[in-house]
Amino acid sequence: MAFTFSTRTETARIVDPDGAAIDRPIEIRTNPITGRTSRITFSRGMENEPGTQRLPDPPPDSRATSECPFCHPQLERQTPRLASSLDAGERLVQGESVLFPNLFPYAAYSAVSLFDRRHFVEIGTADPATYRDSLVNCRNYLECVCNQDPEARHLAITQNHLPSAGGSLLHPHLQVHADRVPANHLRFLRQRADAHLAATGSYLFSDYLEQEKADGRRMIGRCGRWYWLAAYAPEGFYELWALLPGITSLFELSAADWSDLARGIINAQKFYRRLNRNGYNLGLLAIAGDHRSLELRLVMLARSNYAPWVRNDHTGFEVMLGDMATFSPPEETARRARAFWA
Ligand SMILES: [Zn+2]
Repeated sequence: MAFTFSTRTETARIVDPDGAAIDRPIEIRTNPITGRTSRITFSRGMENEPGTQRLPDPPPDSRATSECPFCHPQLERQTPRLASSLDAGERLVQGESVLFPNLFPYAAYSAVSLFDRRHFVEIGTADPATYRDSLVNCRNYLECVCNQDPEARHLAITQNHLPSAGGSLLHPHLQVHADRVPANHLRFLRQRADAHLAATGSYLFSDYLEQEKADGRRMIGRCGRWYWLAAYAPEGFYELWALLPGITSLFELSAADWSDLARGIINAQKFYRRLNRNGYNLGLLAIAGDHRSLELRLVMLARSNYAPWVRNDHTGFEVMLGDMATFSPPEETARRARAFWA
């Protein structure tokens, strides 16, 4: 069952300030997985996005380590500890990564995984080993949760890099969630992957990847078994996907898979840095238990820069109409990103 990569071009005719009639094309793309539309507003890409002329300076609190609850020695005093019912100890440690519960939980099981002892890390400059350790810490936490509460099988690892992406603390960290109730994206993806498997006998993202590989225009590169590509109908700026075909459980990943994923994440950060972007979101969703249709996919997308008086990337168009508008074609994103996977 082939996926339909649908694009429709609309044209807005306007008269420019000098009196000349001009046509402005807008691409409306339909996401082959979700059916959701998004837009490429090319004319917006011709202007200089404010705040991206250069990489913004570090934020003013980038040295405020004594006020940060995630910095030592405050970490031990000011962060919560895991409930004894989880049978995981007070905090989980993997290399230099420390994991503890989120003081402001978003799910029944909600934790924070730090990378290392550094309070501020510029985008693209982290050691991949710190990402590997922090991700593996998340994985180990989720395994404890699933052992204790098998119904809490809707899992997510996310990152809000800098406050413009929703981060409340500058200190680099991942969030990790497990819940009995699936969030919207998990619920939709589970249904979509189940239906695809029932109809075709094969996996949703595997089939999608095969079609994208045959096309080639949005493929970026590989890190180990992970394939990186640009999203066809982006729901955020420079949206990238890392697909691991055939693997449906976080607990099936090898040590090499985690290292390879960390390398890819840093490659993506270096790409965003080259675009003078300092904020992004990251997400890796999974369903545990006997569910075996949704393969692993990590998504990254750039957010508005964290710099003074930069406008937000979600306007009335995104919030009220529900279509994300980005400014350049995903094929161009893939072309520019490839150098970072070479
Ligand atoms: Zn800190």
